Amino acid sequence: MNSSDSRRRFLAAGLSLPATAFSTPQAPIRPASTSPSPGALAYRTLGKTGLKVTSVGFGCMVTSDESVVARAVDMGITYFDTARVYGRGNNERMVGSALKGRRDKVVLSSKSTARTAAEAKAHLETSLKELGTDHLDIWYMHFRDEPGAISDEIIPVWEDAKKEGKIRFIGVSTHNPNAIADRVLQVGKFDVVLSTYNFAIGSVNDPAYQRFDEAGIGLVAMKVMAPASRAFGFKTGGEHSNRPGGPLAALKWVLRNKRFGTTIPSMTDTEQLQENFRAMSEPFGAQEEKLLAGINESIRPLYCRMCYQCSGQCPQGAAIPDTIRFLSYADFYGQFTLGREHFAALPDEKRAVRCGECASCAVKCPNGVNIPERMARAQELFA
Ligand code: SF4
Ligand code: SF4
Repeated sequence: MNSSDSRRRFLAAGLSLPATAFSTPQAPIRPASTSPSPGALAYRTLGKTGLKVTSVGFGCMVTSDESVVARAVDMGITYFDTARVYGRGNNERMVGSALKGRRDKVVLSSKSTARTAAEAKAHLETSLKELGTDHLDIWYMHFRDEPGAISDEIIPVWEDAKKEGKIRFIGVSTHNPNAIADRVLQVGKFDVVLSTYNFAIGSVNDPAYQRFDEAGIGLVAMKVMAPASRAFGFKTGGEHSNRPGGPLAALKWVLRNKRFGTTIPSMTDTEQLQENFRAMSEPFGAQEEKLLAGINESIRPLYCRMCYQCSGQCPQGAAIPDTIRFLSYADFYGQFTLGREHFAALPDEKRAVRCGECASCAVKCPNGVNIPERMARAQELFA
């Protein structure tokens, strides 16, 4: 689950404020009450938006218990991300319910996968209704992994929404920032980019992140724990194995990179929330570095690092990075339906590929991912 520009910039742009606007520009958004928390809050500024948000935000995609979201707000976390597509729309409804009476304490983002103007407009109206708000702080074009996905048709929808005060900032979410960097900068309308960053992916996307950063675009990190929401653990040898300290170490690893304004780890329960909260004030240690190195090796054949070097390499035309990522939704995040829906949206000819029919795979992953095994599993699971 994803954010942009400050209320002051919003005012400076001569736009009318949404009814729920608060009037202390540049001030960190603070909770109404601060119950005991496992550590201290840490704030960062989200690029040129000027928004000050906690370095640990809340990715709501896999959360079903609204009390965890509400508790996070009360603890002082200020960035919350959802999407129209999550939980077939139920996730936005849950977040909206959790934020009742708390909306003005948070920076709230949602996303739309729409590829047409009409669909995007409808998505925004539904998102606002389900979230119980009159504006989103950031509205992302969701899942834009190639330049053509940021079409001239849909850009005006986001611009109009900003002018009308329905959104404050324009964002784009991507798994392939290097591929869309030129387009994002050429369009010149984006305030925030939401993208992948974790210890397993490493520095592969740094060239794009540097360019966005230099352009003043705020950066939000997603998939920050690699395949590891704590509820599912790091998967090794076909089994989920709990690695004590792994998720916390993974989040701390990401937080060392100050280029990112915030992060959106998934959280499903209060224990996980408390652990993630600690990452804001605890240092990343040598033992954690070692722990992550070991985990990285154990997930090497399973976890796609999203380097996209295998794109277009399959003679049968298989959509390798996308398919393996969809599988990770099921295998690592417990989101089988989400994975299957994404797989079902692939073109027919890509869904029809069967890796089991190849005597050997013509594609080699430089990062050690077992491509034919992952692909065959996805094809069997989602067929
Ligand atoms: S399967 Fe390997 S080569 Fe392909 S995108 Fe993933 S990490 Fe890169
Ligand atoms: S096994 Fe390899 S070459 Fe064969 S269809 Fe799958 S990805 Fe393509």
